[in-house]
Amino acid sequence: MSEFQSALDSVLGTLEQIRAGGGRRPRASRTVLAALLAVPPTPPAPPARLLPQVQTGSKAERLAEVRARVAVCTLCAHLAESRTQIVFGTGDPDAEIMFIGEAPGADEDAQGEPFVGRAGQLLTKIIETMGFARSEVYIANVLKSRPDMPAGTSGNRPPTPVEMKNCLPFLIEQINIVQPKVLVALGATAVEGLLGTRGTMRDLRGKWHSFNETPLMITYHPSYLLRNQSPSEKRKVWEDMLFVLEKIGRPISEKQRGYFL
Ligand code: SF4
Repeated sequence: MSEFQSALDSVLGTLEQIRAGGGRRPRASRTVLAALLAVPPTPPAPPARLLPQVQTGSKAERLAEVRARVAVCTLCAHLAESRTQIVFGTGDPDAEIMFIGEAPGADEDAQGEPFVGRAGQLLTKIIETMGFARSEVYIANVLKSRPDMPAGTSGNRPPTPVEMKNCLPFLIEQINIVQPKVLVALGATAVEGLLGTRGTMRDLRGKWHSFNETPLMITYHPSYLLRNQSPSEKRKVWEDMLFVLEKIGRPISEKQRGYFL
């Protein structure tokens, strides 16, 4: 038994005796009190996400190190409990473009990869129409764990501001490692997670913003286009992607300029 534990037991025993006997003044010997004061309690281990970040190694190695910390993160205890697995992010560590969504849904939680459902298929089509393979860009979400749903219900819910605030440091690490030329935020919730403000997509999209000095384009989430099949809305997203291509200095063909998703 440690010195501290022994002293603590002694004090607790005295207090128990006082309570049992109805006494009012707790007494402990000077020796016991000195022992209690002399032994500092063991400090709690820091949360995994606050451990020193690895600054050396390749981008892939550094991303793997962040991923390892995300995999054991329990900061949002309810999400750590309910998730099937974390959904870290995927793509080229040297990508010029990073697409950012809000959170994994049921499909992503099952497969461990962002944007793999119907909305993900549309995002892949957008990326390919821009002239990239999906593996040539980087795709991540603000949240790495799927927002939980009440038992017995299906579907997905948006992440709360607190959940996004908890998880944003991981995304910032990903951005700092990949160092894309451009960030593309998909939907108002992802924008809220990144910038901490909520606005209407009408006001936010189609112009350049900045996140930690990286140019940020905001556009509709692909799931919005699945719900709203209007050609004018699809064209808006495509125009936002043309801005992105111009920003990174990618040549744009006439066919691409006239394209409607
Ligand atoms: S959402 Fe992010 S911060 Fe919350 S438990 Fe999952 S990994 Fe941790």
